[in-house]
Amino acid sequence: MGRFNEGTVFTNENCIGCSKCISVCPVFGANVSRVIGGKQSVEVSKKCIDCGLCVVACEHGAREYRDDLEAVIRAISEGKKVSALIDPVLYIIYGTKAPLILGFLKDMGIHRIYDVSYGAEICMYAHAKYIKEHMDKNGQCRQFIANTCGALNNYISSVSPQLIKLMIPVQSPVTCTAIYTEKYLKDDSELVVISPCITQVDEVRNSDNGGHVKYSVTVESLMNYIESKGLGERRAEADLTSEGLGNIIAYNDGFIEGVSAFFSKEEIFTNLGGIKDVNIENLSGLSGIKKSRHSLMVTADICRGGCVCGTGLKASDVSLSATLDNYRKIRAKSFNFVNSCISPDEYYLRMSRVYKDLNFDDFSKTLSDRYRQPYIVPEDAINDIFNRMHKDTELKRTINCRSCGYKTCKDLAVAVSNGYARIQDCVHYMNDDLKYSSLLDKMSGVANREGFAKKANEILQANPDKKYILLVGNVNKLKNVNDLYGTEMGDMVLIHVAKTIEGIVGRHGTCGRFGGGVFAVMIEDNSKYTDALLKLESFNASRLGVFFPITIRFGMYRITDSSLKLSNIVNLCTYAADKATDRTKNTFIEYTDIMRKEMQEETDITLKMHDAMTGGEFVLFMQPQYNHHNGKMVGAEALCRWLKQDGSIVSPGIFIPVFEKNGFIKELDKYVWESAFKLVQQWEKQGGPQVPISVNISRISLENDEVISVIKELAKKYPINKKNLYFEITESAYMKDQAALTERVYKLKEIGFAIAMDDFGSGYSSLNSLKDIPIDVLKLDMGFLRGGTNVERGNEIITYMVHMAKALKLKIVAEGVELKEQADFLTKEGCDVIQGYFYAKPMPLTDFEEKVKVET
Ligand code: SF4
Ligand code: SF4
Ligand code: SF4
Repeated sequence: MGRFNEGTVFTNENCIGCSKCISVCPVFGANVSRVIGGKQSVEVSKKCIDCGLCVVACEHGAREYRDDLEAVIRAISEGKKVSALIDPVLYIIYGTKAPLILGFLKDMGIHRIYDVSYGAEICMYAHAKYIKEHMDKNGQCRQFIANTCGALNNYISSVSPQLIKLMIPVQSPVTCTAIYTEKYLKDDSELVVISPCITQVDEVRNSDNGGHVKYSVTVESLMNYIESKGLGERRAEADLTSEGLGNIIAYNDGFIEGVSAFFSKEEIFTNLGGIKDVNIENLSGLSGIKKSRHSLMVTADICRGGCVCGTGLKASDVSLSATLDNYRKIRAKSFNFVNSCISPDEYYLRMSRVYKDLNFDDFSKTLSDRYRQPYIVPEDAINDIFNRMHKDTELKRTINCRSCGYKTCKDLAVAVSNGYARIQDCVHYMNDDLKYSSLLDKMSGVANREGFAKKANEILQANPDKKYILLVGNVNKLKNVNDLYGTEMGDMVLIHVAKTIEGIVGRHGTCGRFGGGVFAVMIEDNSKYTDALLKLESFNASRLGVFFPITIRFGMYRITDSSLKLSNIVNLCTYAADKATDRTKNTFIEYTDIMRKEMQEETDITLKMHDAMTGGEFVLFMQPQYNHHNGKMVGAEALCRWLKQDGSIVSPGIFIPVFEKNGFIKELDKYVWESAFKLVQQWEKQGGPQVPISVNISRISLENDEVISVIKELAKKYPINKKNLYFEITESAYMKDQAALTERVYKLKEIGFAIAMDDFGSGYSSLNSLKDIPIDVLKLDMGFLRGGTNVERGNEIITYMVHMAKALKLKIVAEGVELKEQADFLTKEGCDVIQGYFYAKPMPLTDFEEKVKVET
């Protein structure tokens, strides 16, 4: 047997997951929300007590039940003797048509028909007998629960067993009828009960009922069958029926009236109505409490209004006016005997005589305790579930809108923890989740940039008295992880980092991932919480199989000024983080006042750069280059200077890094190139002495192919002798995409220009770059010879580099030469050209042009 939908009541494919069945169901866990093949459905578990309320409540025809009609037909066809127990509701609903229905049963082959009203009267008398014999006994209680409704029995036995001791231990009207026919009428037929109740199936299956009834068929099922076969003309009467109050049990307070007729009018009998909600709580309240005025007996049926509103009736056959009419007629006859008695006592006496031959032990019943201890869900688990449901405030945890079918949000959380429900059953969660998922980094599960900003601002607003630190950092060498272990592992490392940070921050702040390896953290500025992060050397990912330390360079900012926007603070942190040089362990660089000044300068430069360009403030300076053998000028490097209108000069060391950051360097490059082309063309046209000049291509410009098309266009626009101009690329450009860079250099050479590698030996030396890039000129940086103590060793390296360049047939230009000894040494080793302060500083164009005339 499977776990769901295998019992009497089941869900079919019409289910749309509306949860109404959950809201009407009296049993926690009888309905289980599931998603199968992407479709949501609420299925029925083994906890179901077959009350049938959901079958009536479901507006989508998705709840059905199974009964034994087919088994009955088969048994008859196999020659078995089957007798029927028919519920008196048949007469109340169908009136004059009832004998035709009974005739149909006879035609079907039903052996005998017993009206349950007969057993109902035995049952009522047995209830009265038990109450009379037990009321006020032991001073314990005078309160009893009647056994009228199978679903109530099921409920008490499996959900509220504390009430079992209050149950009157008498079989139901149906089983009383069955026992009477079996024991006293000696009918050995198999019995089928035809009732308005889906739960009657338990008269068949529940061992508490003694197995007297073999089959259960609902009135609805029988009437559908009759409809398919056609109702015949045969009329039949029940072989056994009651003349008295047994006939009224199906109607609302009928059973109570039947039992109370044996007692004085002083005694209170109460019908609590339906089983659900408050009524069961009322029953629970009865347990063991002695009050001066309380009910002697209570009933609580599954169906408000009694069996005449049963779950197993054919709704289209029920007419309220006809039902009332039929009931009135039946009721009038049923009271004849009671009314002929002068008192309840006399009625009891006369009925005792009627039943003098019955052994009431035969009709007794003990309700079994089928209660299973539910899983008590710890508050922590409920909190976790609420958090997953984005219910982070008390208000959100007590919306209690019941859309999920549960009375309270907490009930849903408990159902989720038991596996009966899913958090997606909460409409508010689904709405919130749409909002939240747009604020979440799907890969790592922490907030994304927007989510982080939202949460961080909320925390700041909610805690104006607390101080917070904001940190933003980028994972070092993430590319290496991706290259070495694959991007999947790279993602796992990022998730590991996110979870580690999230665990450290806990409830003292928030964290987020901004994409790539960039993480942001806001944490209360209290060493109790911050130490764990600030003292963390690295994110150990060895359990993932990554054995080099994963580190982050964080920039941090102590939030003191609440007016500062979070996005600005993030920028400050990013700025500070960029100052870190150590990549071997986590670094935490705090944003300082010095950085603030730097940033202001950068902002200033950025604000003014466009005007400076249009205003012609960027001008070319020339630094001549010399042949040290003869002291003649042999070339020059064109360098850009920012000459402000007030006459001050901004050093390229200040503005170039800013332009590299903000991308303006590409504009400047184009401007410088064009200026150089124009200049060379002008000198060629003038026909005077001239030397070849070089211009720089920045690392940023070399990052895409635009550089090729721009220089091609310039070469077309200014058709100069290509020997008079060449380009310098910096060795650091080789750091990025080496293959693409090599390709671009080849293309530049194809246009016809020579290429120099600038700054060789300045820190990013890569001999590979010499091997792959087709350069013509190597420019040696004389940083080696400056400031160091081991001059000899530096000289040896220079010697080696010059020899190597010679072997590669490269022209060598030494730059940054400040002293005659340096120039002598370099020239002796074979260096072709000397550039540096020893000969000349970069100079304005006019000065240079004068110098050319003299020194070439
Ligand atoms: S009431 Fe229950 S069975 Fe019916 S459609 Fe809604 S969820 Fe499905
Ligand atoms: S039949 Fe009753 S107990 Fe079973 S699922 Fe439906 S409402 Fe719940
Ligand atoms: S807010 Fe969600 S969990 Fe709470 S009762 Fe409504 S639907 Fe159920």
